[in-house]
Amino acid sequence: MSLTPTRKRSTQLLATPLETIRGVGSRVLEKLAKLGLHTVEDALYCLPFRYEDRRQLKKIAQLLPGTEQVFTGEITYAAETVTPRARKKIFEAMVSDGSGQVALKWFRYRGDWMKKQFAVGRKAVFIGEIKRFGALREVHHPDVEFLPEGADAETILRADPLSFGRILPVYPLTEGLPQKSLRKIMKEVVDCYASLAVSAIPDDIASRAQLLPLDEAFRQAHWPEADVSLAALEEGRDAARRTLVFDEFFFLELGLALKRRGVVLEEGIPFQVEHRYTRPLAKMLPFQLTAAQRRVLGEIKADLMAPHPMNRLVQGDVGCGKTIVALMAALIAIENDTQVAVVAPTEILAEQHYLQFHRWLEVLGLRCALLTGSQSGKEKREVLEAVRTGAIHLVVGTHALLQEGVEFRQLGLGIIDEQHRFGVRQRGVLKRKGISPHILVMTATPIPRTLSLTLYGDLALSVIDELPPGRTPVVTKVLTENYRERAYNFIKKEIGQGRQAYIVYPLVKESEKSDLLAASEGAAQLQAEVFPESKVGLLHGQMKPDEKEAVMEDFKKRRIDILVSTTVIEVGIDVPNATVMLVEHAERFGLAQLHQLRGRVGRGADQSHCLLIRSQRCSEDGMKRLQVMTETSDGFRIAEADLEIRGPGEFLGTRQAGLPDFRVANLLRDGRVLEDARREAFRLAAEEDFMTHPQYEEVRQVLMERWGNRLELASIG
Ligand code: ADP
Ligand code: MG
Repeated sequence: MSLTPTRKRSTQLLATPLETIRGVGSRVLEKLAKLGLHTVEDALYCLPFRYEDRRQLKKIAQLLPGTEQVFTGEITYAAETVTPRARKKIFEAMVSDGSGQVALKWFRYRGDWMKKQFAVGRKAVFIGEIKRFGALREVHHPDVEFLPEGADAETILRADPLSFGRILPVYPLTEGLPQKSLRKIMKEVVDCYASLAVSAIPDDIASRAQLLPLDEAFRQAHWPEADVSLAALEEGRDAARRTLVFDEFFFLELGLALKRRGVVLEEGIPFQVEHRYTRPLAKMLPFQLTAAQRRVLGEIKADLMAPHPMNRLVQGDVGCGKTIVALMAALIAIENDTQVAVVAPTEILAEQHYLQFHRWLEVLGLRCALLTGSQSGKEKREVLEAVRTGAIHLVVGTHALLQEGVEFRQLGLGIIDEQHRFGVRQRGVLKRKGISPHILVMTATPIPRTLSLTLYGDLALSVIDELPPGRTPVVTKVLTENYRERAYNFIKKEIGQGRQAYIVYPLVKESEKSDLLAASEGAAQLQAEVFPESKVGLLHGQMKPDEKEAVMEDFKKRRIDILVSTTVIEVGIDVPNATVMLVEHAERFGLAQLHQLRGRVGRGADQSHCLLIRSQRCSEDGMKRLQVMTETSDGFRIAEADLEIRGPGEFLGTRQAGLPDFRVANLLRDGRVLEDARREAFRLAAEEDFMTHPQYEEVRQVLMERWGNRLELASIG
């Protein structure tokens, strides 16, 4: 792939190291590196995180506390004093402009110099953050520009255009690099290099989306024009930032569109559907599929019968019944003489799926196996061998299934459950275990639309938006620790009526050991002191698989009344007779976790309760999360709230989820731009000659440069 000469030149120049910028010596270079700025391009993309309005001088009477302001006035008093309590020296001055007065304070200063400069009657321009102390307003350590005798403030403002008379950028700082110096460096970078930034987005798209030329966008994002709306700037809605965000999203979406198109064009195995196993299964099930389940199954079936591999995401809230849909899809693959792999994020969930699948497959005369990391070498070898020869029709497992050495006779369908726990790459690995197998991924974490567009933009989407009938919504209560006794009494009552309960302990520290300790000590104490008449069981992540399986089995068969656990039961566990979920230290859990935990109850027809116990010292965010839990049980609303409280980076764990790091875009704020960019990108990718026409050469090159690796795109240059 060779770049066009102009693109090559500008790419090279944008990679120019910052030391070539005027005013950047080795000391400053080090500071810049701390901010992650090495090249001219890094600097261009380091946009201000806020702006300062210095277009006009403010009257002192108008100075708003909490904001940084520019004002002018006359010094009416200046002296060194000693604070009464701390007995520290400070320097104090009063400034007045006739409309009002404001105090200036310095806590670190050179006394002689200050006394000489701050003479009563001198005029100056001051810049600083206004603080309020009771009725008084103060500025600590303001910037001061003294006015020469007889000069008026306006003249000074005009003489220093980098500091006054406009909207100024405010950049992230690092110690030893003042805002003023950084501003100067950035100004130099923008003046000399912005012109090299040329977007590869085709003109017709740029004009439809009302984009600025890229160089202009950089200039204005750093140094906004005087007539721009400050509110728009602050909310990131100005044309300049919108252009840069669009540019960033556009290429990501283009990559996703091509990936999707690549899959669509790929040849797959078209299945025949004769319902050899699905019909008998449907007859055996103790319930009828919901309309939503049937619709989604229909979408899956259509994909499976097409001559291209399926690549579909099934999204549905906890308890909506995704497993049975997956099983039906699996049976269609098996009916077509291919094998199925089901990957789950935890051993417990893999085991539970295995038990469920195994039960139905056995009745149908099919073979099912389990593969996890903690099985013995011998067990594993036997399973691997049976999978390789095709003796096994369906294998359920953890990450272990994705490892090298797992080979199939013919993998026809790969299913990933709780997809949000895996990354994009795992999907790729599973896919390569067969020859263009169909892929079905499932998630219960409802993902806000903007996030799912970026994370799963290359997947077709099915939504199960209906719960099986007869479920009563879970009653959720937040209780302080004082109410724990009452909560226990409530559990006793429920058990007395033949129901069961979960009690969940959080991770106390990062280490799993202490997590285990809290739960196992909790279990012992509950058994001995609180519930001596009931059977208390313990489940945690460090138990052997067969131990875990035994405990789960006991709980299912009601040989255990109360299951004390760590968060290992968070995903997928299904015991309809359990009606109480008590969560200790609920404020330490994330919203998604709490939602999943609550999803363990309310699975039968009986009224279920979720009791969230919080400690007295609970952070503000913690309170917000618990509040959300009591307000809604709608997974989508919970996810939106979660995204808002935590921000997208942490929402799913950037690395793990394969969520790209954006340079300017913000998923919370820029959802609309993302959708616009996506629409245009998908339209472009659908052009017949997109891959070949010289007109799109540059777009293709930029795409490969930016996303080729991360999206695992085959070379298209
Ligand atoms: P999830 O979507 O969270 O994975 P599951 O597949 O575990 O949910 O299903 C939750 C429970 O609902 C299971 O006990 C399952 O047997 C039951 N279920 C699934 N579909 C239906 C249905 N159509 N009618 C009644 N119960 C159903
Ligand atoms: Mg599930």
